[in-house]
Amino acid sequence: MLPLELMHKTFPPYLPKKGEEYMNPRQRAHFRKMLAALKDELSQDIERTVHTMQDEATLFADPNDRASQESDIALELRNRDRERKLIKKIDETIARIEKDDYGHCENCGVEIGLKRLEARPTATLCIDCKTLDELREKQVAK
Ligand SMILES: [Zn+2]
Repeated sequence: MLPLELMHKTFPPYLPKKGEEYMNPRQRAHFRKMLAALKDELSQDIERTVHTMQDEATLFADPNDRASQESDIALELRNRDRERKLIKKIDETIARIEKDDYGHCENCGVEIGLKRLEARPTATLCIDCKTLDELREKQVAK
């Protein structure tokens, strides 16, 4: 997930004090701010894409150019769809933070952990459940 990697450069990870309570108000505020920043970044990106497509649509009169342009647009649309879904997930995550229902595995209830959440702030499963989930998905796909 590129936007998140980019953002970590400007958004340093949270450094908990020794013995600090998991998901205390300061930690929740940190993740809330981080998710809001990520959402901003994605929304701007979507807007930029729309503008670029509108600009480019008028440029190419040559049919060959148009063909490659059309596949570009298809790709952009897929990207935008993915970004929209991610934004929805971010909104849901922020709502969970506000309800003080953030940071524990949806499946088994253990702490997801700050480190995992820094890398994937929208994660709802602990790493063990996630791994099992992926294994199961692979088996279904076979
Ligand atoms: Zn779990």
